[in-house]
Amino acid sequence: MAESDVASSFRLQPLVRLAPYAMRYRGAVAAALASLLVASFATLSLPLLMRGLVDKGLSEDNVAMVDHYTGWLIVAVLFLALASASRYYFVIILGERVVNDLRRDVFAKLTVLSPEFFDRVRSGEIVSRLTADATQIKSAVGASASLALRNFVLFIGAAVMMVITSPEMSLLVLGAIPFIVLPLVGLGRWVRKKQRFAQDRLADSSAFATEAIGAMRVLQSFTQEKRVNGFFGESIEQAFGAARHSVRARALLTAFAMFFIFASIVGVLWYAAQDVTAGTLSAGALSQFVIYSTMAAAGLGGLSEVWGEISQASGSAERLMELMDEDVDVQSVTNPLPLPAAAALSVTFDQVCFHYPNAEKSPVLEDLSFEIQAGETVAIVGPSGAGKTTIFQLLMRFYDTEKGRLLLGGQPIDQVSLHDLRSAMALVPQEPVIFAMSVADNIAMGRDGASREDIIKAAKSAHAHGFICDMSDGYDSLIGERGVTLSGGQRQRLAIARAILKDAPILLLDEATSALDAESETLVQAALDDMMVGRTTIVIAHRLATVKKADRILVLKKGQVVEQGNHDSLVAQKGLYARLASLQFGDDLEV
Ligand code: ADP
Ligand code: MG
Repeated sequence: MAESDVASSFRLQPLVRLAPYAMRYRGAVAAALASLLVASFATLSLPLLMRGLVDKGLSEDNVAMVDHYTGWLIVAVLFLALASASRYYFVIILGERVVNDLRRDVFAKLTVLSPEFFDRVRSGEIVSRLTADATQIKSAVGASASLALRNFVLFIGAAVMMVITSPEMSLLVLGAIPFIVLPLVGLGRWVRKKQRFAQDRLADSSAFATEAIGAMRVLQSFTQEKRVNGFFGESIEQAFGAARHSVRARALLTAFAMFFIFASIVGVLWYAAQDVTAGTLSAGALSQFVIYSTMAAAGLGGLSEVWGEISQASGSAERLMELMDEDVDVQSVTNPLPLPAAAALSVTFDQVCFHYPNAEKSPVLEDLSFEIQAGETVAIVGPSGAGKTTIFQLLMRFYDTEKGRLLLGGQPIDQVSLHDLRSAMALVPQEPVIFAMSVADNIAMGRDGASREDIIKAAKSAHAHGFICDMSDGYDSLIGERGVTLSGGQRQRLAIARAILKDAPILLLDEATSALDAESETLVQAALDDMMVGRTTIVIAHRLATVKKADRILVLKKGQVVEQGNHDSLVAQKGLYARLASLQFGDDLEV
């Protein structure tokens, strides 16, 4: 316990990890440090110049000396002003740069994390780290670090001058320091705990808001406004409560710091005053010493105030570094095997067992085995929750299986690079995702560097060209929050166009036409039929027409293939397929 306690009291490691980011901008760091030094020297020279002005100028009625020292004072103040401005500039720019780089890296990390992570961590929480925590670090790396440095240099400089002025009294002050520092370290630890807690509560409330904003329509349709307002109000209230605790702790810390520091100065003064009355110390030396020790104390006091900010930023850096340190569950092998360069690839599930990592106890697939030949079209049917979509997730290697093997074109999929693997499959998901970009850009996601002609061709095949042309800006129309809203069927057709554009050897269709009306479905189905030619297609089907066209039908139940064959043979079996078919396809069954 003791060790981890010590470690947690110096929670600066997360900030230390920011150092490489800062070192990318050595010029700015050097400029900031140089300005800092100049400003500190200028500040520390002020008492000396003042003393010269008084002792050599005013006391001796020497006008030339008055002019001389006044001149130097002006010069010192000018340097102080310029150096402060340039310190401020370089330090703030540095903060902006560091945080932008950090955010870029964290985001890049997010893009390689496995779905398991996104199942586990709420997106609002992640966004809060990328925004609130990043801002916290920005202000720490920028303003606070510069203030801390200034105060530190001021403290050191003043301390050196104290020693020069009176070594004996400095020794006394030195003796007082542990009494100041030790309680403050303890208090600081307590304050940091409160701050981390407050930051977490704030992230909770942002996470909640993000979710609610994304689902406002659903919330309104269920008239849940009042309840949601209640929830959000509560979480805001909790965040406020935590923030108040944290601020209270910091205020207390500041009060303690001030009191301890100035009380010790007063103590030293009282002690030194004995020497002055005894005649062993000059009043001039004492006052000079007091000026410097006040400077040192101000530096130290400033440090303790900035310390709060910096430790808060350290908490934020920790939260960002946690994201950077997330293990990537699914990774490419170092020496990947190539996939056969064929137009179609075979797919093999060999005794695959799988459960989702966040749902330990419930296996989704149990000893699932099937084989699909290159070029074959296979339909998977089964009750919802049977594990149909999960099969696609495993094929795409979003998750790794715990037992069994998954082969693609004869290669175990974990021996193929993730890029090759995913490039070999075009997926039309159950719930198509359309991004807030133009129609053309949305389709172009199917293939890097697709030309406008390719995009239009794909859209025509997916029977999306017509409705796209009806939009005010055609292929350049923006979709999403600030643009056109699409119907479910339109979204599906864009997703299909995307897959058509991808032109991959394996086609995965997850109820891809479920949101289409009968007429466009027939048309889109025709396009999909064209695409299936010469490829391996797995289609999770919900319509008889699709199922009947398949070379083979796998009937899935609770993660196992319970029946397989073609439509007629399965109907004749009068098993699950026959029941499902009559329920799902209704009268169609007779067709
Ligand atoms: P289907 O597509 O056949 O309707 P799924 O493959 O989507 O079924 O889901 C199979 C089971 O796995 C369901 O019980 C579902 O609750 C569960 N499941 C699906 N996705 C996840 C996930 N990301 N995390 C945990 N459980 C999941
Ligand atoms: Mg599904």
